[in-house]
Amino acid sequence: MVTLNENFYTLQCINCKAEFDEHTTCTKCLKCGCSLDVIYNYDFIKQRLNLYALKHSPISALKYLTFYPIIDLSKIITLNEGGTPLHHCKNLSKKYKLNNLFIKNEGANPTGVFKDRGTLVEITKAQEMGAKAVCFASTGNMAASVAAYCTQAKLPCYVLVPEGTPIGKLAQTLSYGARIIQVRGTYSQCSKLAEQMAKKHGFFLAGDYAFRLEGQKSQAYEIAEQLGWKAPDYLVCPVGVGTNISAIWKGFSELHKLDLIDKLPKIIAVQPDGCDVVVRAFNSKSKKLVEIEKPNTVCSAVAVSMPFDGMKVLKALKDSGGCGVSIPDEEVLAIEQTLAREEAIFVEPSGALPLAAVAKLSEKGFFKKDDTIVCVATGNGLKDPKSAVKIIPDPPTIDPELSEVDNYLKYKLYQIQSEGVKNRSKILWKKIPSEKDLKKIVHDEFGINLSKAVLKGTTDSIKKFETKGKKINKQDIQNIIEEQLDEYNQKEKHLKIIDFEVKTSKYKEAEASIKLSYGNKILIEQAKGVGAVDAIISALKKAIKGHDKLEIKLIDYNVEIFTGGVEAAVKVVMTAIDKNGNRIIAQATSPDVIVASVSAFEKCYNFLYHRK
Ligand SMILES: *Cc1c(COP(=O)(O)O)cnc(C)c1O
Ligand SMILES: [Zn+2]
Repeated sequence: MVTLNENFYTLQCINCKAEFDEHTTCTKCLKCGCSLDVIYNYDFIKQRLNLYALKHSPISALKYLTFYPIIDLSKIITLNEGGTPLHHCKNLSKKYKLNNLFIKNEGANPTGVFKDRGTLVEITKAQEMGAKAVCFASTGNMAASVAAYCTQAKLPCYVLVPEGTPIGKLAQTLSYGARIIQVRGTYSQCSKLAEQMAKKHGFFLAGDYAFRLEGQKSQAYEIAEQLGWKAPDYLVCPVGVGTNISAIWKGFSELHKLDLIDKLPKIIAVQPDGCDVVVRAFNSKSKKLVEIEKPNTVCSAVAVSMPFDGMKVLKALKDSGGCGVSIPDEEVLAIEQTLAREEAIFVEPSGALPLAAVAKLSEKGFFKKDDTIVCVATGNGLKDPKSAVKIIPDPPTIDPELSEVDNYLKYKLYQIQSEGVKNRSKILWKKIPSEKDLKKIVHDEFGINLSKAVLKGTTDSIKKFETKGKKINKQDIQNIIEEQLDEYNQKEKHLKIIDFEVKTSKYKEAEASIKLSYGNKILIEQAKGVGAVDAIISALKKAIKGHDKLEIKLIDYNVEIFTGGVEAAVKVVMTAIDKNGNRIIAQATSPDVIVASVSAFEKCYNFLYHRK
């Protein structure tokens, strides 16, 4: 067994400075409950450091082993983490007039996030300390990361996550074989529960504690090395619990202490404005963090109501001469698209926070054009694709005919898709515009020219929305236009729903009556059903019975909401199949979920009718 001198580090409380042996506690101070810091004997590290190897071997997290509190090297659990690209943003450099803008692409780690660097040290320590099982709380990414390393170590792994954790992260974690428990509560509540669970059942408590921080320092080492053993002028990083930004600051400080770099970066902390505990404290020059009870942000990875390492972050910002920035969700999502479109780096929303901050600060003339700025893109976009597709319109679906491809190119549908990403909740008019004014608005907002027919359909549709009392925003108009451009609207509608009425109550069956035209017949019918949509569709099917050759059945039905609030427009997506096994997916948007459902059904029917 290769064992090092065990006395080259100790654990110390950042607040009351009490020191602990790692077997007593390696998570929280037993005296005051604050976070711990690993304090090294740097002379010892200096002695062990092989400078030649450090400067001449390829980067990877393991290459900086000397800087970690690992004693038994035979216990190392690694998935080959780190060594991620430092991407020079050529296109964005032009856009923001910053010559040295870089992205440290942490999505390139084994499980798609920087946390793997911390997990390397944490699970290695768990092995050293003889853990039998691991438990912890997570907003999703730590879940997948720790689960992966536990699989390697053959350790059982229990994870508590807040309900609503992105499905990509859950799928990954479950696939690694972890035991996930979803909690009706916030991340902080999961965290408390995990602590109690570990104590009661004797599990190793993983999480944003001192050992994880040590592993995550390697981002700083790599950035310095990739810049030719220099620190950047600014290091921009998102903050959730605050562990990662503190780790990066510690990493740079150590290199400076060991004379491997000659100056330190200024640290910029970025948080979404729906959960910006640390930024608020820093900007109000307060030494106290005020909990945000109900975090509200798409940046689920940083939705932390009470950052455990918040005090370390405040210190890093102060000591480095940095600052804090809050960003609204809408800007984060737009910048996530910008980063993907300009530099081909696809991140989850939290990973886009740093660039959003750079965009904001550079507008105010905060940077000099030759400043070296490194943004930490913390996590891969595939972790949370739903948040991205929420603002990108679905790609159009066409029949396999060249004429439809021609239509796509003619109407520049791709352009709607990229322009539509910006300012989605913008209200575009006070009073319903004339067709002429609408044409101009659509051209200015989306960069496309609508044909007369499409313009008319769009105006009609807008009127229907507004009669129902809904204020139309940019997102709505985009949905409406896309529906109007749908090839379906250019064909005759064999089935056309003229009107319907439906009565529902809490306990009784729903009752619907419907008036429709089928071919050239007008039909009226009534039916009951378990719910409103079911009753209407039953009435419809009853009406066309005997003439109907399709006998379509619904096989999937999804309702999505774009913006918050009960007055928001909804999108219904239906998948239907006819008796010959032809399958179709259709969608419709309306402020009324039943109207949207009925329109989607009508579309499904007509698509399948024309398909025969
Ligand atoms: C965990 C995480 C963060 C936040 O890091 P903290 O150490 O909690 O401050 C940011 N982005 C992503 C993608 C993460 O997974
Ligand atoms: Zn203490």
